[in-house]
Amino acid sequence: MDQAPLTATAALRATVASVEGVPVDTRHWINGTRSATVTGTATPTPTPAFTDHSPIDGTPLAAIARGGPGEARAAVVAARNAFAGWAATPAAERARLLRAVADGVDARAEELAAVETADNGALLRSNRRGVMPRVAHNFRYFADRLLALGHEDFDTRGHTNHVSWDPAGPAVLITPWNAPLMLASWKIAPALAAGSTVVLKPSEWTPLTASLLADITHEAGLPPGVFNVVQGYGAEAGAPLTADPDVRRISFTGSVPTARRIAEAAAAHLVPCSFELGGKSPLLVLADADLELAADLAVEQYDNAGQVCLAATRLLVEEPVRDAFLGHFLDRVTKLTQGDPRDEATGIGPNIHPRHVERVDGFVRRALEAGAKAVTGGGRNPELGGNYYLPTLLTDVAQDSEIVQEEVFGPVLTLQTFPEGDDDEAVRLANGTRFGLAATLVAGDRERAARISGRLVAGTVWVNCFFVRDLSAPFGGSRSSGVGREGGDWSFDFYCDLKNTVTAPKGWARHG
Ligand code: NAD
Repeated sequence: MDQAPLTATAALRATVASVEGVPVDTRHWINGTRSATVTGTATPTPTPAFTDHSPIDGTPLAAIARGGPGEARAAVVAARNAFAGWAATPAAERARLLRAVADGVDARAEELAAVETADNGALLRSNRRGVMPRVAHNFRYFADRLLALGHEDFDTRGHTNHVSWDPAGPAVLITPWNAPLMLASWKIAPALAAGSTVVLKPSEWTPLTASLLADITHEAGLPPGVFNVVQGYGAEAGAPLTADPDVRRISFTGSVPTARRIAEAAAAHLVPCSFELGGKSPLLVLADADLELAADLAVEQYDNAGQVCLAATRLLVEEPVRDAFLGHFLDRVTKLTQGDPRDEATGIGPNIHPRHVERVDGFVRRALEAGAKAVTGGGRNPELGGNYYLPTLLTDVAQDSEIVQEEVFGPVLTLQTFPEGDDDEAVRLANGTRFGLAATLVAGDRERAARISGRLVAGTVWVNCFFVRDLSAPFGGSRSSGVGREGGDWSFDFYCDLKNTVTAPKGWARHG
């Protein structure tokens, strides 16, 4: 394979890289063709490509096309031009094509998993057994849902009301690095099912599987321009996409500050936005909880090295069971093996990027300086170095402290307690941040669990479980954790313009 040089920035050129033995074309995918740059359209970026590194060991993986306003515009124009044809494609045919994409994902699941792990450091076994099947399921689910979409007609004094979901137009989808293909496909599938055309801008830290997906959509037979990928940095490639006047929807998963910038850009053309943002979710452990289960669920929060938006990073434990719970928790943490995510025995891998590890460590340092105690972890893994941060639990933290209020997005949990029987205090702590993405409650008494969960501010509440996610459920966050809900028919509501057609019983020309 023609592999671009990866050291001298000026010489970088996006072509086809070999990643884990898989050829990955790292150019943009616009209007059914590959391009490293789109010439003559607008200000070019300073260099035509940038280097993507693996978080596992810092190895340079590929030179990636560095999109700017020209590429963004070309992709939106392609999506705009393809829109009428795609919107008019019968639902059954759109569903067939989405299923063909799902089949393509299944057929290339091993390759996708290997490339994703090299690119974002998530466990290979999770990518193989959990993530890639779920990516395929996203496409099948929304294909099925499209065919079931409908609302019963209803009557108003003899007039018939008919509700339809009309495709809205080109959708810009902007995604983060922590679960790249999973989060992208969860937007791409409903947008395409809804009859919208798509421009995807994946994270600059994890650009690879989006590019493989472009190949898969092409092989599945998606017409040119229906699905486009623009690679590049947020400020250079993402920002012009969100400001483009031909865009009709923006769905974004990422951080709160970026969401604000996108909302400002979208305001110019009043483009509806769906935002799935950060979290600082609580895990409440009530005194009558199954403490083994509580400890299992708490340790699960280190999955993906803590880089999960839904992670319940604040452990809130009822005082009488604090020590017993902590004992079970620490038993499990000591058994967690940290290392190369491609190794079957590894339980926790690296964080995404040296800059991100620095940020995570900054939160921990400042918390320790403010009086927090690290019951376990508290720094980089001394044996592994690099991006490997020890699973960390901090106690003695104040509710209004930075470590309790801000999203760390690393393997860092805090532990606080509330007095026995004091549901008000449990709820006050649980709801006491600006976020509201999710909450987890571990309890023995159903009625108390229902009383407390009813008072939690969160898009999703899990009781005695975690991360059970059905695509039919509404998904999103409250407060600063998001705007809007996707999932099931809510996704179609977002990617379509809903229309009500009212037809009178009178005025019809007679036939015959
Ligand atoms: P980020 O906001 O830095 O970047 C996300 C994406 O936005 C990237 O593709 C980036 O290039 C792009 N971007 C950056 N600036 C832009 C701009 N001005 N205009 C347009 N696009 C721009 O977030 P991140 O660090 O990649 O992801 C981590 C965040 O994502 C965390 O806060 C996490 O909680 C959140 N997240 C939320 C969910 C959810 O479903 N709620 C899921 C996963 C991650």
